[in-house]
Amino acid sequence: MSKIKVRINKDKCIGCGTCYATAPEIFEMDEDGKAKITSTFNEVEITDPAMIEKARTAASMCPDHAIEVEELE
Ligand code: SF4
Repeated sequence: MSKIKVRINKDKCIGCGTCYATAPEIFEMDEDGKAKITSTFNEVEITDPAMIEKARTAASMCPDHAIEVEELE
């Protein structure tokens, strides 16, 4: 079974909104207009296959490669 963690590189994020449109369960806008991880998934190991798929899709669509997907197993 796959297991991942996701993080945002705030220095790269341009606040385009693609990630929160694609996976609103995982990403939302912070007070600076940049992406952040929702409290549900922040520093949490994600094991739900549907959420992993969404996180990977959002990461692949990010124009500035600001979403880091750490593969844990
Ligand atoms: S898709 Fe990338 S650049 Fe756009 S808001 Fe999300 S992390 Fe930021």
